[in-house]
Amino acid sequence: MNTYTRYPVQLIRGKGCRVWDDTGKEYLDFISGIAVNTLGYAHPALSKALCEQAKTMLHCSNLFHIPAQQQLAARLAALSGLGKVFFCNSGAEANEAAIKLARKYFYDKHSSKRNIITATKSFHGRTLNTLTATGQDKVKVGFDPLPPGFLHVPLNDIAALEAAINEQTAAVLLEPLQGEGGVNIAHADYLKQVRALCDRHGILLLLDEVQTGVGRCGSMFAYEQAEIRPDILTLAKGLGGGIPIGAMLANDKVAASFGPGTHGSTFGGNPLSCTAALTVLDVIENENLLENCRLRSIQLMQGLEKLRLEYPAICEVRGAGLLVGAALNTQAADIITACRELGLLILPAGPQVLRFLPPLNVSASEVNEALDKLSAACKGVFT
Ligand SMILES: *Cc1c(COP(=O)(O)O)cnc(C)c1O
Repeated sequence: MNTYTRYPVQLIRGKGCRVWDDTGKEYLDFISGIAVNTLGYAHPALSKALCEQAKTMLHCSNLFHIPAQQQLAARLAALSGLGKVFFCNSGAEANEAAIKLARKYFYDKHSSKRNIITATKSFHGRTLNTLTATGQDKVKVGFDPLPPGFLHVPLNDIAALEAAINEQTAAVLLEPLQGEGGVNIAHADYLKQVRALCDRHGILLLLDEVQTGVGRCGSMFAYEQAEIRPDILTLAKGLGGGIPIGAMLANDKVAASFGPGTHGSTFGGNPLSCTAALTVLDVIENENLLENCRLRSIQLMQGLEKLRLEYPAICEVRGAGLLVGAALNTQAADIITACRELGLLILPAGPQVLRFLPPLNVSASEVNEALDKLSAACKGVFT
């Protein structure tokens, strides 16, 4: 079905940070399949692990114990400090699981709390619950009746959040850095205040790190930078390095509300996807990719700041790690097209923000090359 506006390009193969189209044209890829290809294309360790797993077993159902799933759960639990994990296949599914668990937790406590507060400009997925949780009207039009129990407040406004909390509130669901909604940062002080507010009201803090998690923001999870921990955490995009996998993590107390029969997934946590995620975590560690992410982030943001001084159409450079945005006072589409023609793939985040999502192993020279191409695109479009 015609659900995507597609660029007029067919990408055939990739290696590292580069891709080639069907005419042989080479591009530097600062999209990474929308923050999915954490290790770039055709990383040898990931290719090898997947080939070996494909020769052994792809799938066997959650009716059986799955060693790779147990190992991945243990790794994610150790990294996050959240004791339990449920595996699924996508970001929306992980958020659906989070919403279900938050409600079931209060049901089990004989409490009537069911409502979820989210932020305006947020993005949480395309299922009926997650599009209702999403704080953007454009994803909701035509899909009523929408499920009840969701409301939105402006990000970084603690008073608005406090005013919205009532006896029916079960949870607050936030992205630590809004990706789709325009690369909007939830400030560390705000996140700390949200954590304290949730504790004071006895409600749950859910963080959607589908885009920000797994090293994308320079720490394994973005929330670490605010020195807080959520009660429930969702991951997906970058977790499998290109193989679909989602995860919903929760602390032991909350996770206890999911018993046999309360939730499930046919494909979730199969041997192939868990092997992919384990390999991604291994490579992040072995190749020191969190540090590379932080260094390349500084380099990219400094380069964008220099361009901003040259071109007043660039109003602000913001982001964390390698989830970086450049807000324009004009449409992003023209620059994106010019970049593509010059061999650089970048994304919009809303109509007026350029978004840069290179793989976490992007090199210093590749960042410089991308900045040169962007500079040439700006010269063409803005002068
Ligand atoms: C992409 C995204 C989702 C939805 O993930 P899907 O895998 O497309 O369902 C949810 N939340 C955030 C923050 C995202 O960036």
